[in-house]
Amino acid sequence: MSNIYEVEHLHQPGGWLSPGYIEIGQDGTILSVSGTRPGGGAPTVLRGFGVPGLSNLHSHAFQRALAGRTEFVSGERAEDNLWTWRKEMYRAVDRLTPEACEAIGALVYLEMLQFGMTGVCEFHYVHHQPGGAAYDNPAEMSDRLIAAAELTGIGLTMLPVLYAHGGIGKPVEPTQTRFVHDVDAYLRLIETLRARRNGREGLHVGLALHSLRAVTPDEARAALAGMDAMDPQARLHIHVSETTHEVAEVEAGLGARPVQWLLDNIGLDDRWCLVHATHMDPSEVAGAAASGAVAGICPLTEATMGDGFFALPEYHGAGGAWGIGTDSHYSTSVSEELRILECGKRLELRRRNVIARPDGGGPVHSGRVLFDTALAGGEQASGQGGGALVPGRRADLVMLDADCNVLLGHGPETALDARILGGTQNPVRDVMVGGRWVVRDGRHAEEERIRAAYRTAVATLFG
Ligand SMILES: [Zn+2]
Repeated sequence: MSNIYEVEHLHQPGGWLSPGYIEIGQDGTILSVSGTRPGGGAPTVLRGFGVPGLSNLHSHAFQRALAGRTEFVSGERAEDNLWTWRKEMYRAVDRLTPEACEAIGALVYLEMLQFGMTGVCEFHYVHHQPGGAAYDNPAEMSDRLIAAAELTGIGLTMLPVLYAHGGIGKPVEPTQTRFVHDVDAYLRLIETLRARRNGREGLHVGLALHSLRAVTPDEARAALAGMDAMDPQARLHIHVSETTHEVAEVEAGLGARPVQWLLDNIGLDDRWCLVHATHMDPSEVAGAAASGAVAGICPLTEATMGDGFFALPEYHGAGGAWGIGTDSHYSTSVSEELRILECGKRLELRRRNVIARPDGGGPVHSGRVLFDTALAGGEQASGQGGGALVPGRRADLVMLDADCNVLLGHGPETALDARILGGTQNPVRDVMVGGRWVVRDGRHAEEERIRAAYRTAVATLFG
């Protein structure tokens, strides 16, 4: 048994099918895609634009609860930046219970789905009880996020984070004890989480090194070797160069800028996701782009933190893969994240259409280039098997409402430009993950329950 849908406009690599017929198997993968109606029963007709779900390549789910709570200065915080924000974040960590972790995770995963993100890479570092003792179930906090993802139906790439030091050559601070593992305990956690995949199609497990500040070169190598022995294809994520302060610390401690150090000492390839590859010099841009690694850009979070701006035209122009994450979840909107990436560069460079370059043929559309590149980067970083509406991929179909103001009157050629650069309404109407509808008419079946649990969780965090 399979389901056949006739989609008014179906996104395809390099173009659209209008209409497109997509056949989805019982196991949630795409069996066939065609411009002609296949035999068998009558297809279900879907009006509007059918696009692939996007994988969000970087999330710290609990940080959703801090959004809107750190937008002030005061006597003790006259100058605010990532490091002063981190103090507020650590205060929330101190009070984060497993229940709150699950409730906040469910809300933010729900929001991602409602904006057309069907997968998420969870860079998860709060593992232990306040004070640092392990929970009876050492995977307690990870399990809570797995439960949150299951409740919402989003695909999850769980990336437990190895965090061992408070900086290069520095012990962890008291506020960081909930994060810490030695390499052996860390690899046992990965093993435990890999066992959780039994019977869970949407769960994937990879490795994350917090940063070159929090893990020594020997620890990094040992963790990577352990992961490689379990799964040589596992996705590998690291925070690399979010701030100039971080670059300077790594340069002073390890003798090279972070991306350069990884290229020279670890070796990068297409399993790697370089989160916040914000500050790269031209040689790092060239090396990272050529390595096949994905640059993980979190445009709105990086903007709110005042981190700096990714070398978008240079990296993209060098053929580098990149995708977007929503990190601290100042936004979970695909459009907002991609818009600030493109428009921020327009402001800086004082020109239009920065990412799209002429290819000798017809018009090259910025919205299309931004969306398709983020789609491919998100799939590469998450390894979930979606990212395109073609046979063999996970059936992650997002229906955009052609009657939403941003899409009114648009055809396929400009629909993605309109969605990303032409307005602010969210046109996502229906969302399917792995063949199963999880959002219909913008609503999720568990929405009220999830919102109520979130409200309670926030009260425990902020009183
Ligand atoms: Zn992060």
